[in-house]
Parts: sequence; structure tokens; C-alpha cells
Amino acid sequence: MQKEFADIVIPVAVSGSFTYGIPPELRGAMRRGSIVTVPFGQSSNAKGLVISIHSTPPAGFTPKEIIGLLPEEASVNDRLVDFILWISDYYMAYPGEVMKAAIPPADELPGVRVAKRKRSSKTYNPGEVIMPASLNEVQSVAYNTIRDMFSDHEAVLLHGVTSSGKTEIYIHLMLEQLAQGRQVLYMLPEIALTTQIIERLQRHFGDSIGVFHSRLTPAARREVRRRVSDGTLKAVLGVRSSLFLPFRDLGLIVVDEEHDSSYKQYDPAPRYHARDAAMMLSRIHGGKTLLGSATPSLESYHNASAGRFGYVELTTRYGDVMMPEMIVADTRSFGRKTKMVSHFTPRLIEAIEEALGKNEQVILFQNRRGFSPYLMCPDCGWVPGCTSCSVSYTYHKGIGKMVCHYCGKSMKLPSVCPGCGSEALTTKGFGTEKIEEEIRLIFPSSRVARMDQDTTRRRSASAEILSDFAAGATDILIGTQMISKGLDFERLTVVGILDADNMMHFPDFRAFERSFQLMEQVSGRAGRRTRRGKVIIQTADPSHIILRQVLKHDYKAMCRVQLEERSLFGYPPFTKIIRLSVRHRDLDELNVSAARFAEILRRQLGSHVLGPEFPVIMQVQKWYIKTIMVKIDSSLSPSKVKEMVRKAMETEFKEPRKGILRIHADVDPQ
Ligand code: ADP
Ligand code: ZN
Ligand code: ZN
Repeated sequence: MQKEFADIVIPVAVSGSFTYGIPPELRGAMRRGSIVTVPFGQSSNAKGLVISIHSTPPAGFTPKEIIGLLPEEASVNDRLVDFILWISDYYMAYPGEVMKAAIPPADELPGVRVAKRKRSSKTYNPGEVIMPASLNEVQSVAYNTIRDMFSDHEAVLLHGVTSSGKTEIYIHLMLEQLAQGRQVLYMLPEIALTTQIIERLQRHFGDSIGVFHSRLTPAARREVRRRVSDGTLKAVLGVRSSLFLPFRDLGLIVVDEEHDSSYKQYDPAPRYHARDAAMMLSRIHGGKTLLGSATPSLESYHNASAGRFGYVELTTRYGDVMMPEMIVADTRSFGRKTKMVSHFTPRLIEAIEEALGKNEQVILFQNRRGFSPYLMCPDCGWVPGCTSCSVSYTYHKGIGKMVCHYCGKSMKLPSVCPGCGSEALTTKGFGTEKIEEEIRLIFPSSRVARMDQDTTRRRSASAEILSDFAAGATDILIGTQMISKGLDFERLTVVGILDADNMMHFPDFRAFERSFQLMEQVSGRAGRRTRRGKVIIQTADPSHIILRQVLKHDYKAMCRVQLEERSLFGYPPFTKIIRLSVRHRDLDELNVSAARFAEILRRQLGSHVLGPEFPVIMQVQKWYIKTIMVKIDSSLSPSKVKEMVRKAMETEFKEPRKGILRIHADVDPQ
């Protein structure tokens, strides 16, 4: 019997798929995963993804017909269709939203001419490919244990202190997959990290490894996609979006820095967690997932403790390099004696001087960009803030403007305070830009660079900053979390963490875990080779429990304490959370709708529903926000709860109200 109907997903925010008729001339060529053009709404040639082909006519209407079929090169394979549908279901995204993330945009489709750009990356001469270094005793044991554990676990967590040689183990495991003819994916949380590691990988993989992320040109992305699909590209180094590449046969996914929250996509939907999605993708391919970190997420550590993941530990650095010396510098006691040199304790200044004197390098970490997080009128206390978002403006001295970090709006500094007419606004707090200015004043002859969102807008900027630092052309590198991970520099010995307090006191149940991870990661950059590193942590709260654990590099103590708290208060990994965000431009309408929505949910889920509550930032780009949290403990079925929530979202949307109400779900929010 001829299969003359196809269920098709259209890249718009609607639930489900649409049934179309397949014209006879296309019937032989059509398959699950084909991309077709169809009439949809006002459009006569909307793109659609075929998710099933069958012979059951739709009930109650005559379907429209498919118009055209895109070339095979544009289509996705069966496994990728399964993956797209799983993401849609698990993360409560419309299938069309996931399709948009997975299917290349028009300018990356085959048949579309793209202006040729000069290739910026070196092409690799396959003759130069060299064997990886042989693993030492400790690494070999870890390598063999990982392989053993893969025989009865889909995922293994490799917990290895910074610079323990994890990457070297990944390389060996990846080469093994290639030898078996399978493909591998090596994931990193940020584009900036791919630039340093790709050269190291190309030495061993030559032309069979490619890089994939959003900063590539459309032509380069298209080329990677084509080679992944035809199987000539065996290994990919990429960020979270590389999960949607058309792999034929993935044997292994490595998720490096698996604890990193950048793996979670927040906007737009699908709001997926690339680490967790990677495990599903591996399962679809019958492959394995290796999670690696010096500071695993509590979720992964908990999964490993419960036996769901294999667990392998590396407790020493490669070559027995010592872990860095950790020093806490109390900003209050120094402040009282007015020994602080602007934002720097004497301890930190001395350490920097000493390093510079020995021709060594320094990293200064401040998790805030801009000059100062806010301005204030010293006379009346007025703080200028964005009128569309409920946040204060960050002052950027370099451009002479105040910038909203939520919507990007910028404004010139007012010459007088609109509240009291006072003429001097003072800066409060400090960001990377201010640190840079002050360091240049204190160390006028040293070479200083800054790496944050503002200095890396150009495509190759971050690669340049890092290669300058690697080449020794920079002495002091100042940066945000962009410089906290993965980087490996021989002469870097001193790391300064300028303000530990703003991390630890962030209002979030993960704040302590995150602070530990961030401090441990950034300290891990210091003294990775022969010289022992030194880390100076500035804080006004030196006896804080997290600092005591960081000082001893005691990850397990941090885990024990934090897991107890999570269990006590019902947070992940002991529950699953769905965060619902309700938005409206009118505050009263929002309050009414959010309360109603929570009420609908509460009727079925009772005390598992919390809120509605205003988030820390209650207004972004003129939209007021309220959040409702659904906590799913072991007494509930996550998929049933999601179904319930989905239905409730639809009923609340259907009620005619004033203006537009937006609700979105964030499953496993970070
Ligand atoms: P991690 O990924 O755990 O931070 P790396 O794999 O980057 O650690 O290793 C840290 C340093 O030790 C790197 O400079 C790396 O080249 C070196 N190294 C690790 N394993 C070996 C090995 N088996 N032989 C030679 N050098 C190694
Ligand atoms: Zn004033
Ligand atoms: Zn704003």
C-alpha cells in the first residue's frame, strides 16, 4: 500500500505536527527526516520537517499537499528526528522551536550560494598527525576503568582535579572510537575554550576533526554539517548546538566541564541542558557519554554515588605538580587599617609584584564586566536605572555611557542628579573595566589585557587575547568567568579573585556550589607546570564555610554539606524543578493571571507549586515577570506533571484577557 500522507513539523510555536498529502511524484523520495516546503498559514512555501510517513488519512479534513522536497543534503537522519522529538517532549518546547534550532537557516542550506570567505583557520596537513602522549600509570588505570564501566553504564563521570590530565584521556578514548569507524563529539561550554583546545586536538586528529559553533561563517558551518553527515568528519569539537549536527554513528560524547551552567540554553526555546541531552543523544546512537570536571555538578556527583553513572577519580595533577597555595585576604581588616590600595589588598599587590619580577603571569578574576555596577548620587542616594528593566545601569567608562546589561540600552551620564540637582555621581562597586584602569595605574610598565563580553565582540578577539597571553605578550589578564576555565598557560602563577562575596551571596540555591566551582576552576589556572601557583581570594567574610572548603580543595566536603541542604529543602538533585515564567506588560494583569495560573496548577499539584513570586529582576524590556516553581519529588511522575502543566498553560492562554500574556516553561532551570 502506498504511503500517501506525511506528518510534518513546522518551525512555529504550536503544539504537535500537521498532516499533508504527498504528491505521487514525491512518494518514492520522501522519508522521515526530509525537509519539504508546504503551504502553511499565509505562506505558500513554509519549510517543514517530516516526522512520519503513513497511509492514514486525517479525520475530518482534506489535507493540503506538499509542494517541494529539499535536496537530501538538507535533510536530517532518523536519529536526529528522534532527538528533536525527545528535546521537545522533555523540555516542554514546541517541536517547531526545536526544529528551528536543529535545521540550518536558509543561508546554510545546500544550493544557496554563500560568498567565499578566506579560511581563517589553518588547514591541516594529514602528514603531520602525531600519536598522542602515552598515558602515565594513574591515567592508564583511569582509562581502563572508564572503558570497563562503559560495559554496564551509559555514562561515566571523570572527576579529576584541574590539570590531572583528563584531556589526554579524552583524546585516547576518542581515537579508539575513530579506529572502530565511529564518530565522536567533544563538547565545551563556551566558544572561547574551543580556540585553545582545537590546536591540541588537531595534532592527533588532523583533518578528521572540525569545530562547530555560532561564530563560524555560514559557509564554514555548512561545510561541517555536510562532512558530519557524509561521515568524512569523524570528530567534532563544539558547543551545545553541535548536538544537532547530523551525526551518522556517534560512539562517544565527551562533555568537558560538565558542571558548567552555560550548557543550559535559556533563550530562545528549546531550553535544553546540553549535558543531559548529550546522554540521550548517545543512547539514541548506542554510544556512551563521558562527563568530565574538576568540580562536578551536584547532580552528576549524586548520580554517580547512586550508581547510575560510573565514577572515576584523578586526585593528583599530572607530573605531580602541586595544587596552588590558597590564601584568603580579608578586605575588611585591611580596609579598617586603610591599607587597601583601591580594590586590592596588600597580599594581592605583593603577589603580583613578585610574579612580575620573576617574569611570570597573573590572572585577575572579577565576575562583573563594565566599570562599576551602579552609580549613586552621594547627596540623595538616587541610583540611575533602566526604565525598561528593573536593574540599575552599569557604568562603562570607556564609552562614557551607562548600559543596561539586560536589554543593552545605553544612556549618557546625566550631568546633574535629577533628584536633587547635585553635580557629582559616584561610582559604586567595581567591574573588570575599573580593575583594568587601576591595575594600569599601579603597574604602569606591565602589559595588561582584559577579556570579557565587551572586549570580545569581534569574531577573533578572544583568540587573539588568549594567544597574546600564551605567547607572553601580556603580563596581567583581567577577566570575567570567560577566563575561569580550561585555559592552560605555562608561566601563569598568580590568580587573584577580587570579590568572592558577590558570588557567594547571590540569591540562588546553587550559589554556594557555583562559588566553589568558580573559585576552584579559576585557581586551577595557576601553576600548572613546574612552578607552584598562588591564589589570593579577597573577601569580607573569610570564615565562610565555602571558603574553608575551597582553601582545602575539599570538593567532597562541599558536596556533603550542600547535598544535605538540598535534601532538607527539597531542591535538585532530590527533586526536579520546572520554572514557569509568566510575563505581561501590565503589572495588574500579570498579577491576576499569574495568581490564576498558579491556582489552576495547585488544584492538581497542591503544595508542589510555589509562587507566583517576582524574580530578582522583575522587569525586562518592559515586560513584568512572575515565576511559579513546580517541584517534582519522587511521589510524582515528571512526564505526568509536564502534561498537566502543558494543559494548564493552554487553558490560561485561551481566556481572553487584556494585552498579551506570555508563559514559558523552563525544565531543570540552572
Ligand atoms: P586537565 O584536562 O585535567 O586539566 P590536561 O589533560 O590539560 O589536564 O593535562 C595537564 C597538562 O599535563 C597539560 O599540559 C598536558 O599536556 C600534560 N599532560 C597530561 N597528560 C600527559 C601525558 N600522558 N604525557 C605528557 N603530558 C601530559
Ligand atoms: Zn541626588
Ligand atoms: Zn534594560
